[in-house]
Amino acid sequence: MTKIEIPADHPRRDSLEVREKIIEGHDLHIVATAGLLAHGRGEAFDYLIGEHTTYQARLAMRAAVAATLTAKHPVISVNGNICSLIPDDLVEFSEIVRAPLEINLFYYRKEREDAILKALHDAGAKDVLGTHDRPSTTIPELSSNRRKVDPEGIGSADVVIVPLEDGDRTEALCKMGKFVITVDLNPISRTSVYSNITIVDNIVRVLPIMVEMVHEMKKLPHEELVRIVQEFDNEANIRSALNLMIEHLSSKASQSIEELKEGKK
Ligand code: ATP
Ligand code: MG
Repeated sequence: MTKIEIPADHPRRDSLEVREKIIEGHDLHIVATAGLLAHGRGEAFDYLIGEHTTYQARLAMRAAVAATLTAKHPVISVNGNICSLIPDDLVEFSEIVRAPLEINLFYYRKEREDAILKALHDAGAKDVLGTHDRPSTTIPELSSNRRKVDPEGIGSADVVIVPLEDGDRTEALCKMGKFVITVDLNPISRTSVYSNITIVDNIVRVLPIMVEMVHEMKKLPHEELVRIVQEFDNEANIRSALNLMIEHLSSKASQSIEELKEGKK
């Protein structure tokens, strides 16, 4: 399929470029068709937070980096959407925090697994867990395809990073005693409310910031990192994200149609 060129002065350029990446990922079999719809749901919530990284999201990222740096065995769960959007950042983050990448697909097809594996290898990933040629163990109480996990990955992880996750699996991971970190633009998805740390922001903005944070925070003493995780209040953070969306909408509701046309903040 031909890639659409988005004009440099298009007011929705950034968002459309990200959309093009997802479409390209779908053409390459990396993204499932349902993944396109999940992306659209994310875009809608991104509009509600004003398409920028909030202070609250940064707080959650800081806690997430601290939890990952203090984990014994952190693992990052990879799905088609994140692989097509930010493969390079994903591989860089995985390397600097020493958290292996594990492919975990709801809509499994060999063709998809191969396409994702290739995209990760092209981005520089060395070892990728969760592929069908590897041993697998199962998450109890989960009936979908995704109950299969890699014993050297999520199976034995203490901290699991599951961006754009599905609610049932998040709940099952929590029941297994895992500390779950997610990135989800919908602050009230089941994934968001079940996770221990919920970063309400777009994954394309999150990972580059978290990579920077790791470089700064890895110099902090262990006790300081532990304190950052303990002091983080996920419930309060989710509530603030929701309140920011409400405030953003009410400020829009008070604008004139001319201000709305100008895209006034
Ligand atoms: P749940 O099962 O957790 O209640 P859901 O059914 O709303 O969630 P899914 O469709 O399973 O969610 O997963 C997609 C989730 O990822 C959505 O909540 C969507 O808002 C979010 N999402 C999609 N694209 C992005 C993105 N680029 N960055 C962050 N979040 C995203
Ligand atoms: Mg769901």
